[in-house]
Amino acid sequence: MEGKVNLLDLTIEEMQKLLADMGQEKFRAKQIFQWIHKGIKDIDEMTNLSKTLRQELKNNTYIGKLKVHEKYVSKIDGTTKYLFELPDGNLIESVLMVYKHGLTVCISSQIGCKMGCKFCASTGIGFMRNLSAGEILDQVLSIETDAGKRVGHVVIMGIGEPLDNYDNVVKFLRLVNHPEGLNIGYRNISVSTCGLVPEMMDLSKESMPITLSISLHAPNDEIREKIMPINKRYSIDKILEACKIYTEVTKRRITFEYAMIAGVNDSRENALELAHKIKGMLCHVNLIPMNPIEAADLKKSSREYIEQFKSILERYGIDTTVRRELGSDINAACGQLRRSTMENHS
Ligand code: SAH
Repeated sequence: MEGKVNLLDLTIEEMQKLLADMGQEKFRAKQIFQWIHKGIKDIDEMTNLSKTLRQELKNNTYIGKLKVHEKYVSKIDGTTKYLFELPDGNLIESVLMVYKHGLTVCISSQIGCKMGCKFCASTGIGFMRNLSAGEILDQVLSIETDAGKRVGHVVIMGIGEPLDNYDNVVKFLRLVNHPEGLNIGYRNISVSTCGLVPEMMDLSKESMPITLSISLHAPNDEIREKIMPINKRYSIDKILEACKIYTEVTKRRITFEYAMIAGVNDSRENALELAHKIKGMLCHVNLIPMNPIEAADLKKSSREYIEQFKSILERYGIDTTVRRELGSDINAACGQLRRSTMENHS
C-alpha cells in the first residue's frame, strides 16, 4: 500500500485529476466512483474499464483495506459490532443497529481520542491518529457488504471526536451523500461532538442539514468539568450559544446527549437546572443510561431516577427520550469492544 492512493479517499474531481495525471480519460472517474461506492474492492470487477486502465489503477491505487478482525452479533436484538483492522494494524470499531425503519451504522472518526471524558472507555486507549475520509466511508461500505443490505442512517458516534478531525469528516459526509455513491441524505446522518465550538460554527456554514448531537452530560460547568476536561476550553454557555446559531442557520433541531450517572448528574436539581438552561431551544434530549466501564468508578442511574429526570424536562416542554440499550450482551457501547480485545491480546 506504500505510496498508493486509496480511491475511497477521493472525490470525483480528485479522481479526474488522478486519471489525467496517469494519461487516462477523465470521464472514467464517474464509473470508478460508482463501482467503489457499491462496495467493489477488486479493480478487476470494474468490467466497463479496459484491461490497461485496470492495470494502471492496480499499480497506483487501492480500494480501502478494512478487514473484519472480529464480529459479534447480539442474540437479543441483532446489533452487530465490528472490529475492523486497518492496513497499519490499528483497530477501529463500528456498530450495525437494526431498527424498524432500517439499518443504522455507528462509525468511528479517529483511532483513539484526545478528549479524555471520564466515563468513556475510549479514553483509556489514548490517541493514535485521524481516520481519512475513505477509512470512515469504508466502515459503511464494509458493513453493507457483510450484511448484504443497504444502510439507511449513519451516526458518527463511535470512537473519536469527529470535529477534531474536521476536514476528513466533512469530506466523508460529502462522499456518503453523493448521488453517484451511497446517496445517504444529510437528514439521515448524525454527528456527535463533545462541543468544539469553532468547528460547530464552521459546520453550520457547510450547507449540510445533518443532525448535530451535543454530548452535554451535565447541567453546569462544575459537574461537566469533572467528567469532561474539554469543558475548561468551551463552557456550557459557549456551547449553547453555538447551538442556537447552528439551529438558526440550519433550521435543524439539536440533540443533547446526556449519560445518566448515579449521584453525579442525575438528581432533581440537576434536571431542573438543565431544563432552565435549554428550555425554548430547538432541541431534544436523549438520556443514555451510562454504560459501565471498568476503569471508572461510575455507575448508571436507576430507572427511577431516569424517569424522574425525563418527566422534569418534559414539564418544561423539552422533548426527551431514553436511549434503548442495544447489544448489551456483546459489550456493545462506546469503545468497550476494542478495549477488551486489546487487553485480551496484550
Ligand atoms: N466524541 C464524540 C462522539 C463519540 S462518543 C462525542 O463526544 O460526542 C458517542 C456518545 O457516547 C457521546 O455522547 C459520549 O459522551 C457517549 N458515551 C461515551 N461513553 C459512554 C458511556 N460509558 N455511557 C454512555 N454514553 C457514553
